[in-house]
Formats: sequence, structure tokens, C-alpha cells
Amino acid sequence: MTNEELINKAKSIAITKQVAEETVVGEVGAALITDKGNVYTGVSIHAPSGLGFCGEASAIAAMVTNGENRIKTIVASDGQGNIYRPCGRCREMIRQINKQNMDAEIILKEKIVTLTDLLPFPY
Ligand SMILES: [Zn+2]
Repeated sequence: MTNEELINKAKSIAITKQVAEETVVGEVGAALITDKGNVYTGVSIHAPSGLGFCGEASAIAAMVTNGENRIKTIVASDGQGNIYRPCGRCREMIRQINKQNMDAEIILKEKIVTLTDLLPFPY
């Protein structure tokens, strides 16, 4: 799978839905490919009281559900194809799920970097 295809996968699942008065899902979709070549996706959940989480966290949950934790490449996008950088919490989650993920490629709108570039001083 090319990076363009991975971006399109993230974009295609980013479908915003208001599922409750204060809860919106799918504003951001994330797609990742593992070192084994498997692709996992997930969408954001924006809920009150800090209960929500990012699309990256959702994709990571799908990955670990399937027994994997080594990310080769990850990207997050909204439904219009705007690419987002992982937030600090997601950067740490990517690292803490497997320390080798410091080499994971993060697709940004400007270029592709590694997690080490985005997280030079981990927790
Ligand atoms: Zn995040």
C-alpha cells in the first residue's frame, strides 16, 4: 500500500456524525500500516468530560486487538483530506505501545517524518 492509498483510507473513513447531543464521531480518521503489512483504521470520538480520543488511538486499538503493535506508517486526515499531526498524547501512545515505533513514519501534510522527529524528548 502506498502512502497515498493510506491517506485515502484515513480520509474515506472520516465521516463526521453527531451521535448524541454532545458527542461527535468521525471528525478525523486515522490509518496505519504495520511492519507485517496489515492496515488498521479508526476514527475520533469527541465526547464531553474527556471521554473522547483521537483517530490514531482508535486505529492503534484496532491494531493491538489483532495482536500487533509495530507501526510502519501512520496518518490522520479529515474528510476533506486535511492531514493532521498526532497530538502529544498520541505521540506518546505510539511510542509506549512499542519503543521501536520511534522509527515509525508519520505522514504530515508537508513531508514524512519519524516519531523521533516529533517526540525528541519522550516521557
Ligand atoms: Zn491524538
